[in-house]
Amino acid sequence: MPATLLEWSVPAAILLCATGLCAARFVGFNTLRWGCALACLGTGYAIMLVQASELSPYKQAVEDAFILGGVILACRALQSRRRGQTSCYVDVAVLLASTAMVIVSVVLFASAKLETFFVQACCAFVIWRSTLPFARQVETTSDKVLATAFLFIALVLTGQCVLYIGAPTPLLAMGEWRTSVWGTLIQYTGLLGSIVLTFAVFIATSYDAIEKYRRQAHTDALTGLLNRQGLDSLLASVSRGALSEAAPTGVIMADIDNFKHINDVFGHAFGDTVLARFGALLRPKADAHLCAARLGGEEFLLLLPGATLESATAIAEEIRANFVAQRWAPHAPNSRFTASIGVTLTQAGEPFAHALKRADDLLYTAKRRGRNCTVAGAAPGGAAHGLARFSGMPPPPSRPTPQTSPPVR
Ligand code: GH3
Ligand code: MG
Ligand code: MG
Repeated sequence: MPATLLEWSVPAAILLCATGLCAARFVGFNTLRWGCALACLGTGYAIMLVQASELSPYKQAVEDAFILGGVILACRALQSRRRGQTSCYVDVAVLLASTAMVIVSVVLFASAKLETFFVQACCAFVIWRSTLPFARQVETTSDKVLATAFLFIALVLTGQCVLYIGAPTPLLAMGEWRTSVWGTLIQYTGLLGSIVLTFAVFIATSYDAIEKYRRQAHTDALTGLLNRQGLDSLLASVSRGALSEAAPTGVIMADIDNFKHINDVFGHAFGDTVLARFGALLRPKADAHLCAARLGGEEFLLLLPGATLESATAIAEEIRANFVAQRWAPHAPNSRFTASIGVTLTQAGEPFAHALKRADDLLYTAKRRGRNCTVAGAAPGGAAHGLARFSGMPPPPSRPTPQTSPPVR
């Protein structure tokens, strides 16, 4: 019996989903792989509807290979989100084994039920095999969405396999199978899975894009540290993270000395190199601690949750000493550049803005004391209030010519 319009709507809908995913590539979504997987699946479902009794069992083998191939491609697209992709040999082996079992079912047993069971079981196996490891290492919301969709599809397929084994079904000839309740079930499972997958992929890809642009908007392109907007967003969520206004946090504010002069003498591009290097000195600290930011120009901030004034000052001094020790060949081989730093600690319950202002004041105290030094101080009433520490080297001349000034050390 030729397929009805309603039956053709199943592969048509799957191929429409595939087209949507492939076309989304042109508006910047990375969904081509998913689109190819659904195109393969939809082709399998379309072949299923082709009236071709004389082609059997080859038609069955080809249609099932397309369906399983589509599932394998979708699973590989899922795995490509993680570094550890499983070997493709297993996928090829499953495809070959499924094809062999389909041919045996059709040729030896003339059983569409057995054929359908084998294909469903292989699809379920492939999906479980890639989804379980993926679900164990989900990191982002988009990962969670995809893992949920795949687990749902895997459960539906597994349930169907159990149903095929458990339910007594009349012996149906090949041509009758498609229009039976079992054939209809398999078609609508494919449709449901494809729609669920398409939605999940679009939601996950949109989340990925939002996350990517949010990260870009919060990151300083030159140094890779947070920018002012990123810092503001972090501080707005302080109570949710490791950084808390209830616990003391070390606040280190640093400013490169005479940076305008560096720009003037060596050029803006070299100035950018100096900024990038200073940022690189802060980045390892930010990995170990919470946040390092470039506030703008040549001003930087490091927040150290759980630090004491002493430990924060030691870190600031280490950064300052490392910066002074930098060599600037070939552009400024004989130059040493310096930075001034203010260090303080947040008081329990004190808004961050107050601590930032105090660190800024201490930084300018360091500037007034001749630059190239660290000045630390706690809040009024804090345990170490009044401790304004001047550490560092003898101040260099206030405006050295970087090219000609003697090394600071
Ligand atoms: P002080 O020791 O008092 O901090 O003096 P300074 O020259 O470092 O500070 P000032 O605020 O006078 O100059 C900062 C300069 O930083 C001015 C500006 O042109 C430059 N600058 C700001 N952003 C960038 C940037 O992204 N790249 C480069 N190369 N220069 C920048
Ligand atoms: Mg400066
Ligand atoms: Mg400045």
